[in-house]
Amino acid sequence: MSNETEFARARAVIPGGVNSPVRAYRSVGGTPRFLVSARGAYVTDVEGREYIDLIGSWGPALLGHAHPDVVAAVQDAASRGLSFGATTPGEAELAELLRERTTVRGTRLFDSIRLVSTGTEATMTAVRLARGATGRDIVLKFAGHYHGHSDGLLAESGSGVATLGLPGSAGVPADVAALTIVLPYNDLAAIEAAFAAHPGRIAAIITEAAGANAGVLVPDDGFNRALSDLAHREGALLILDEVLTGFRVGPAGWWGLEAERADGEMWKPDLVTFGKIVGGGLPLAAVAGRRDVMELLAPLGPVYQAGTLSGNPLAVAAGLATLRGADADAYARIDRSAAILSAAVEEAFASAGLAVTVSRAGSLFSLAFRDRAVRTYDDAKDQDAWRYPAFFTTLLEAGVSLPPSVFEAWFLSAAHTDLELDRITAALPAAVRAAAR
Ligand code: PLP
Repeated sequence: MSNETEFARARAVIPGGVNSPVRAYRSVGGTPRFLVSARGAYVTDVEGREYIDLIGSWGPALLGHAHPDVVAAVQDAASRGLSFGATTPGEAELAELLRERTTVRGTRLFDSIRLVSTGTEATMTAVRLARGATGRDIVLKFAGHYHGHSDGLLAESGSGVATLGLPGSAGVPADVAALTIVLPYNDLAAIEAAFAAHPGRIAAIITEAAGANAGVLVPDDGFNRALSDLAHREGALLILDEVLTGFRVGPAGWWGLEAERADGEMWKPDLVTFGKIVGGGLPLAAVAGRRDVMELLAPLGPVYQAGTLSGNPLAVAAGLATLRGADADAYARIDRSAAILSAAVEEAFASAGLAVTVSRAGSLFSLAFRDRAVRTYDDAKDQDAWRYPAFFTTLLEAGVSLPPSVFEAWFLSAAHTDLELDRITAALPAAVRAAAR
């Protein structure tokens, strides 16, 4: 078995050979690695080659792959049944744990929460709830932010849409796309202008808590609070998307980092979405928020949402075990690794005299081949992205698996130790030389 033969076989039956576009290596070239196992900080491909993994399943693997406690919890749950299509005690236990973790200095991020299976469902439901709550139809989103692949949220989206250089997606009816207004990130005047142009029609602003799907786009100081103030002044809701940042950049996500620093009363979104880590590597995500808005959901209210596998017992068990393992020590280790590795990347490029900017939001970081800060999607696109494939491929050949797109953040885990950081650092100079050519 080789990666090439597996890719050929997959392409014959699966569009592009992949079940999610960013896995296809389209922007970096070469053959995607077909993985057969993963443990700790490492993944292994069909050829038996091991790589230090900086993708972490695109976020869920906070504790590292196949953490023994998570695997044991899933095995234990599986021994009692895979899916019941009925309520289980673990669901309320996970809901309570998520609410408790996101309570900072006495302020709760949300009152109640519904479990779904993917981040896409979570944001889609949040938008429906916002429309149901306000009776309005327009949603404001930011260019370069990714909120999953529902029709209304793909316009100028980050992640794979950015990687493939697409403006949005075919198949989205114009009437649906017209209900999403895309604005530049970190630009409050643009939001004021949108509210002025569509009085009484904007249901919600949706924003990534910190942008991490067009590379890392850090919100300006006070930007999220201003979004909350503006939305509320205009009778709209704020939807904070923490699918990627939630339980990764800290125990209470990006909002928690802001809440810890806030003086006075903390701003709050009306709705918040989670995914990735909350399912510990199995399909689980959530939409949460203010009690009065959440109680608009069926069966209590008129906003419909459902799911055959929602709150799946294996996913709940994996989420609970992952969150229980995500203690202060785990976050401290991940933060330290991010500081060391991002500095090593900066240092490697600086010594070769090649301009890059490393953007960091907590332990998430990404690099851009340009010498100026990256605040918006336009900034992120205005870089020598053509240099990334050589950088990526050289590291891959040296046994380091980076995200196969310059528009994705690097994911560390609590299982990455100094050994892995040293090995990555040692491999950097050759990759930088390849990028400099
Ligand atoms: N929201 C954000 C911020 C994301 O990063 C993602 C996925 O990467 C999603 C939503 C969609 O989640 P899923 O891929 O589980 O549908």
